[in-house]
Amino acid sequence: MSNFLHGRHASLKAYVPGEQPTDQQYIKLNTNESPYPPLPEVVAAATAEAANCHLYSDPKGTVLRRRLAARYGVKPEQIILGNGSDEILSFAFQAYGGPDAPVAFPDISYGFYPVYADLYGIPKVIVPLKDDFTVDTEAFMGVDTAMVVIANPNAPTGLALPLEVIAHICESNPGSVVLIDEAYVDFGGESAVSLLAGHPNLLVVQTFSKSRSLAGGRLGYGIASTEIIADLNRIKYSTNPYNINRMTLAAGAATLDRDEVCTARCAEIAQTRAYTAEALRALGFTLTDSVANFLFARPADGNAEGMYAALRERGILVRYFSGERVREYLRITVGTRAQMDALLTAIREIEHAN
Ligand SMILES: *Cc1c(COP(=O)(O)O)cnc(C)c1O
Repeated sequence: MSNFLHGRHASLKAYVPGEQPTDQQYIKLNTNESPYPPLPEVVAAATAEAANCHLYSDPKGTVLRRRLAARYGVKPEQIILGNGSDEILSFAFQAYGGPDAPVAFPDISYGFYPVYADLYGIPKVIVPLKDDFTVDTEAFMGVDTAMVVIANPNAPTGLALPLEVIAHICESNPGSVVLIDEAYVDFGGESAVSLLAGHPNLLVVQTFSKSRSLAGGRLGYGIASTEIIADLNRIKYSTNPYNINRMTLAAGAATLDRDEVCTARCAEIAQTRAYTAEALRALGFTLTDSVANFLFARPADGNAEGMYAALRERGILVRYFSGERVREYLRITVGTRAQMDALLTAIREIEHAN
């Protein structure tokens, strides 16, 4: 830190992304990426668009927004594109939070929520998950903060709330924006987009990163009322109007052209998830019933950190969190069947060595 940094950032704890190592080839099961690369036509569309990079990208993302609007049965004015869904989250925290406008979210959830709150000077109302790692939905009813943020399915637990509960949270907080972060919805959750018509305070956030093989392209979007999207655009046009580059806009549209492939890949991952969960249970692990593209798994001895390190030595990366309630668990991305077999083989070796 330099002497120049403003004092308000002195104690800011930045988000720590999962490792993207460059020292060797790992089986990467640590950041919930897709194991399947983008389709050749997606790569071709992005490559072709590179030839136009002397010109700025369309700040409105008109083509892609129109396509997403058709996909979700909403108007294009109800959609905003982000440089990853992280940017949509950032816009929303800036738009609705403030020193006098707190934001509520669960204690165990996406690690970026408290970071944005701290960065923007927003008081946090932290609602602990229940002992079984489910969201304490009662505690969110009438919580009366400026915004409520819930990942559904939640990370790192993989557990999802039914839509009736989301509707209820919206209805019991009419003065709050309710942001539902659906980064993992395509792997087995139910999207709250269908609730938008009757719930003017609902903001649904999705991403191309996990279910559409485009994590490195950085493309997310928010869907809400035209008024909420106008609020978010106010922040976007005050920070970075050209937030999505040309290649990514083209890749996103080409990906939507082949949405059926993404759907099939998600189904494949759901099958591999069930296979891996069963095998891990047979090895003594305790797991939540994840409907996401990752498993949240506790080794029999609770030594998740040791298991993380032993897997790393064998070239397999998983995610370990040191937080008090989660430190006995690993978050393991569901990859291909072959990757999961390599994981299971390594775990058997590690368990034998102990
Ligand atoms: C991965 C993730 C995001 C962010 O994804 P982007 O790559 O920025 O689109 C947002 N929310 C949750 C819960 C995530 O796991």
